[in-house]
Amino acid sequence: KLFKGACLVSSVERTLAMIKPDAVRNGHVDSIIAACEAAGFVVAGRTDQQLTTSQASQFYAEHEGKEFFAGLTTFMTSGPVVALLLEKPNAIKDWRALMGPTNTEKAKSEAPESLRALYGTDGTQNATHGSDSFISAAREAAFWFPGDLAKERTLAMVKPIISDT
Ligand code: GDP
Ligand code: MG
Repeated sequence: KLFKGACLVSSVERTLAMIKPDAVRNGHVDSIIAACEAAGFVVAGRTDQQLTTSQASQFYAEHEGKEFFAGLTTFMTSGPVVALLLEKPNAIKDWRALMGPTNTEKAKSEAPESLRALYGTDGTQNATHGSDSFISAAREAAFWFPGDLAKERTLAMVKPIISDT
């Protein structure tokens, strides 16, 4: 038998999700986590906290200067949020797909089964957050889960390819 190489059969990715203050206030935490697990995500970390204005500004630094920034930080500090570290192959894109479009009204018309359609309130208060890239997932995971848990990780399972010739 000859070893010909190896193929990747599974890889797990991490993303950072938040259940925002509107969804927490409206009692949707358990439904959102249930939907998340039903879609195949593993909750690798959870923390329930209320952000300060300075923390919210830091988390959303990319949006500083935009007209919705003040409203966004006011909203995000208005009550506790639930931050979740989620694991699954293709977690970053799949979580964004499960959330639906940013704007709740758009989510309701274009993706009525999405989390933002089901649990969002309006353009700013849209129930959930999800990292938009590998880089932001690593940054946002470190923001919420400082220490070992935050270390970005890709689990790879490799299958050998063996043949007689
Ligand atoms: P996301 O990645 O889908 O959450 O969207 P963005 O990163 O573009 O924006 C961050 C958050 O700011 C959104 O989830 C909304 O809460 C808020 N936001 C974004 N765009 C707008 C907007 O045009 N108007 C208002 N009022 N809020 C916005
Ligand atoms: Mg974003």
